[in-house]
Amino acid sequence: MTDESTVGGREGATEPVEDTAAVSDAFAALGDETRVAILEALVEARRGNPEDRALTFSDLRTRTGIDDSGRFNSHLGKLRGRFVEEIDEGYVLTYAGREVVGAILAGTYDADDDSESEPLDDTCPFCDEPLSASFDAGEFAVDCGNDHTVMRTSVAPSAAADRSVDDILSLAARQAYTMIERVTGGVCPNCSGRVDREVVPAETDLSIDYVFTTTCRRCGAFTRSSVGAVVLRHPAFVGFCHDHGIDVVDRLPWTLPLLTDDATTRTSEDPPRYRVRVEADDERLDITLDERGVVLATERTTS
Ligand SMILES: [Zn+2]
Ligand SMILES: [Zn+2]
Repeated sequence: MTDESTVGGREGATEPVEDTAAVSDAFAALGDETRVAILEALVEARRGNPEDRALTFSDLRTRTGIDDSGRFNSHLGKLRGRFVEEIDEGYVLTYAGREVVGAILAGTYDADDDSESEPLDDTCPFCDEPLSASFDAGEFAVDCGNDHTVMRTSVAPSAAADRSVDDILSLAARQAYTMIERVTGGVCPNCSGRVDREVVPAETDLSIDYVFTTTCRRCGAFTRSSVGAVVLRHPAFVGFCHDHGIDVVDRLPWTLPLLTDDATTRTSEDPPRYRVRVEADDERLDITLDERGVVLATERTTS
């Protein structure tokens, strides 16, 4: 039994080649004030009336403030089928339209308050120096004074704008867990393309021998984590922690005993096998992974 995901697909194959003309058309469709105003009008309509979000042609034109119906129609045509679609009741955003609008709303807010470093109460799992958190241009990072980054993840500026550092921390940790769940399942968190997964030598000065990396074949998004992070959402690990009174949902990643190398060892060269070991009270959990971070076996032992 393995955890191989049903969406993992053919490892090593490349993603179908994107239609680059379609991609540049999509970008071009957004490069115009009127067309952006049409998307905004549809969001406004949804916000005002979430259950009946469609706008008729004339309603949409009025809200966009364009008198010339032919000109309006030509702009709408550039969005149709891509960001906007017509249903029985009128015009609504498509999946891509909702995603684009969501990204714009998440990424824009009037603020220049990228935080300086905020000291945290925890210490670095590698060197015991105090950790601090920083937020810069949508990137949230937790590091120590020796430049050990224990977490780096994207957080929407709009989400960070009205949250305390503690709240951003907890949001960032949840996002990191969600990201790990997706990439260990072979799915890119950004574009839902297939990712290649690999356990590789760490090549850092940390006390880590191996890291788990993923690369998206479609958008090139790259992730790197400790090998132990691969099992953070595995039922065997979650259950083990639960049985020992540790709620992993509420724990920040660096407070879990999986970032440091004593948790992960290579147990076989050919085929490559890795073991993640966690101990609590008088019990031990061993999780065996293959070279792609797929869980092959789990074993609990009482000493
Ligand atoms: Zn450190
Ligand atoms: Zn991707």
